[in-house]
Amino acid sequence: MIRSRTGGAFPVRHYFLLLLLALIPALASADETAPARDPKQPINEPYTAKIKKYTTAPVFTSPLVDYLPASKNVPTPEVVLGDVSGAPGILPYAEDVYKYMRLLEKATPRVKVFSIGATEEGREMIAVAVSSEENLKRLDENRARLAKLADPRTIKLDDAEADRLVAQSTPVYYITGTIHSPETGAPTALMELAYRLAVDESPYIREIRDGLITLITPVVEVDGRDRMVDLYRWHLAHPKDFFPPLIYWGKYVAHDNNRDAMGVTLKLTENVLNTYVGWKAQVLHDLHESVPYLYDNTAGDGPFNAWVDPILTDEWEMIGWRNVADMTKFGMPGVFTHGIFDTWSPGYLMFVAALHNGISRLYETFGNGGADTQERTLDPEDYSRTWWRQNPPFPKTLWSQRDNNNYEQTGLLTSLHFFNENKRLFLKNFYLKSKRSISKPAQEGPAAYILPADDPRLELQTELLQVLQKQHVEISRATSAFTVAMPVKKPKKSSKKDDAKDAKETEKEKAAEPTSREFPAGSFVIRMDQPYSRIADALLDHQYWSPDDPQKTPYDDTGWTFGELFNVKLFRVTDPKVLDFAMERISGVKPAGGVQGQGSLFAINNNAEPALATLRYKLRDASMEAAEEPFESVGKKFNRGSLLVRGVARSDFDRAANEAGVRAVALSAAPSVKTHPVHAARVALVHTWLSTQTEGWWRLALDSLRIPYDYISTQIVSKADDLNAKYDVILFPPVGFNSSSTAIINGIATGWGNPLPWKNTPETPNLVGKNDSTDDMRPGLGWEGVAHLQSFVAKGGVLLTATDTSRFALSIGLADSVSLGTPTKMNIVGSVLSTRLVDSASPIAYGYDEKLSAYCDNGPIFSLSSIAGARGFRRLGGHSTSRPTGRGTADDPDFTVGRPGFEAPEEPTSELWEYPPVSDEQKRNGFRVIPPANRARVILRYADAKELLVSGLLEGGDEIAQHPAVLDVPAGSGHVILFSINPVYRGETRGTYSLVLNTILNFDNLNAGR
Ligand SMILES: [Zn+2]
Repeated sequence: MIRSRTGGAFPVRHYFLLLLLALIPALASADETAPARDPKQPINEPYTAKIKKYTTAPVFTSPLVDYLPASKNVPTPEVVLGDVSGAPGILPYAEDVYKYMRLLEKATPRVKVFSIGATEEGREMIAVAVSSEENLKRLDENRARLAKLADPRTIKLDDAEADRLVAQSTPVYYITGTIHSPETGAPTALMELAYRLAVDESPYIREIRDGLITLITPVVEVDGRDRMVDLYRWHLAHPKDFFPPLIYWGKYVAHDNNRDAMGVTLKLTENVLNTYVGWKAQVLHDLHESVPYLYDNTAGDGPFNAWVDPILTDEWEMIGWRNVADMTKFGMPGVFTHGIFDTWSPGYLMFVAALHNGISRLYETFGNGGADTQERTLDPEDYSRTWWRQNPPFPKTLWSQRDNNNYEQTGLLTSLHFFNENKRLFLKNFYLKSKRSISKPAQEGPAAYILPADDPRLELQTELLQVLQKQHVEISRATSAFTVAMPVKKPKKSSKKDDAKDAKETEKEKAAEPTSREFPAGSFVIRMDQPYSRIADALLDHQYWSPDDPQKTPYDDTGWTFGELFNVKLFRVTDPKVLDFAMERISGVKPAGGVQGQGSLFAINNNAEPALATLRYKLRDASMEAAEEPFESVGKKFNRGSLLVRGVARSDFDRAANEAGVRAVALSAAPSVKTHPVHAARVALVHTWLSTQTEGWWRLALDSLRIPYDYISTQIVSKADDLNAKYDVILFPPVGFNSSSTAIINGIATGWGNPLPWKNTPETPNLVGKNDSTDDMRPGLGWEGVAHLQSFVAKGGVLLTATDTSRFALSIGLADSVSLGTPTKMNIVGSVLSTRLVDSASPIAYGYDEKLSAYCDNGPIFSLSSIAGARGFRRLGGHSTSRPTGRGTADDPDFTVGRPGFEAPEEPTSELWEYPPVSDEQKRNGFRVIPPANRARVILRYADAKELLVSGLLEGGDEIAQHPAVLDVPAGSGHVILFSINPVYRGETRGTYSLVLNTILNFDNLNAGR
């Protein structure tokens, strides 16, 4: 409704304006259907009485959900739950939710259940379509119409034809529940919602049923749901005890399952994405729980993702604010849409819709993390009245799962109704967004991205193309060579700090930048004149988050540029002529592997591709060696670290190489180059019982590369007195949440409370799944565990750590020559930074080039010291390197009256990533001076400040610029490998995986090239 702000009598011209507005459909319609039940339809009295009983205050419900319509033949959720949806003490497993949905399907032609795939642990995922019998009968016809709107090329971008299709089509509104397992309310809310949509004969609900198709995935994280229900059952069986926190959700990650919409590495993302795209849905509405009582973060806060269409940002505001208004009219407090959530990162599941021409939506409702009714006390920031939350929540409330279900269903029903009333508008927008995606080359650009056929990293290139294919992006391949004009890069503005040498280098780079580039036949072209160009562009482009942005707390990562993080060659082409060259659409991208040439020795060039490690473990009996220097053979150049494989039949090798996507050359004679053996190291991956999510991404990477490892907790390390007997390499990936060393060692306090078991019991049959178990999650690594790790390294083991576990390794004295800097202004929030190779002879660097982009989230900042246990000396007076006050100018030599002058010895200097030189004074009885052989090798360092940022937010970058990014620290007979970057993260950083894999493959020869 559009209303006059003054009200009362209108001047005549306003009256005409109102008449005009009334002609605008839907948004201004004066005869909206009232949200009220049909008095002619009987209600289910006992069910309705229980709804009332479990709702803790009359304002926590609405006329849409405060009753349940009766049905003679359709069962209510009670048949499965034993009580009504949202009843205290009742949390159904996914299986029970499915059972109910299938009972509905049997009982009414208005419900259809579809299987949409399986999870990592093999559990089923479903989508439930609810609509009129008529609509469900004509799903295929309707889908064919929607498909034309989704791909306007099929109707030659004809707007009139689009209007005809819009008028005939039924839109699809897709709702997804409980991706976050401790957010437990959605499944029961969605069971009851499906019932209402199928049964209720009130005009308000009937319009929704007849007007659109509601598609529901009631449980997205099915593995995690079953674990959460287990824990809740355990809690009910042990009401006086504390219950264990949900440390595993899915097999690999917890909360980050909602950060996978870029990399699509989890089954749940892939299944929801395929369903969304397959149904040609217009909306993806994802249900979460956190803040009171309903935060519709559709409208969110800035900065908005730069690649979404402004048509979408308008839809966000339109739908979000209308949703708030509708629920406010019911008198429901605490409904709001503006808030702290920025809409920059496209990693959230809902962004599947945002970047595939649909509408992304998300609710945060208020949940108790289970089905207990509890007294909840809010923080002042959650109950204060603000401009965007005029009717805030109460400071203190008795809150039930039913209240939560009321809010979820009321929000969804009003949304569905509003969407249906304006469906022509939204369907037309869907078409327009698709059309504008296709018009991208002629509008904002670019015209295409090109992945050249001569990239030395074809395996990583294939992996990047496979991500794009999972995103339903079309890929073409050039059938002949072609040349395109390339945009000339403007030279970066020099800062005051740049010295003359840097300026000269910049000048050289500028001159070397070509204005056109030739690409060989077979190069891949990602055309931007396709319906899903947005997602490709968003993943492949660079991101810039200004340090001056008013948003000071980015909600998630600020940079993700996939070409950079995959370490592949990628060219953004703006010249639309690129689209005219001969190319063909390809349907599948497969890694090109196998062996060429004659001979029984197989040589594999090392370009830092993960599949090399896969092959090492696949061909366990083969003998493999790594070349310590580059070499040439049969006219081909091989990089340092290239593998020489012997003792395996050609057919076996060829098959394995083919499967792994590794290209090899057969040689008849061994090249004359120094080599060392490459053994299949015995690997352990250590996790804490504090959090398993960040290391979960490492497990996922190792599993997908088929690299075997033992998965052990810090508690196992504390009991294992001879780790060397079992392992060569121990990976201790980041714990996450900047875990302190104290927390890693101490775990959770055991001085009070009960043990927190994580194991399968009669109440918790699904808890462990394929992960780890313990009788008590609380104990940490302990000091015994610290000693075991120290002894493991001293006796020759290799310990690899990253970010917070690198801090931990330093805190337990495993790297005496490395210290941590304390940033004062540095702010790097999940950004892509540039690093430089320092020691190309180190096996950890095998296959890498001079420049490498890496994921960094605020360091840590490593510095090196040549003095063990270095501590500052007390000086008398201030320390100064400038000349004293005296004669002449600042650059002139000083003099001393009455004696000849002297030349001050030149102070030796070093770069920030290097060891500071040892002074003559330090060498006197220098028992603290670390001999060169005991010093860390700097494998990678961060780039200079002005070249540091690749993508995202970088503030105060000079504090980490040039500092070491990856270090190999000798300790006893072993090594500690310290990462400041996180090399294995969210399936997005595959270009840096080989830093870890090289460490594993060369664990017993890390000193090579020293
Ligand atoms: Zn959530």
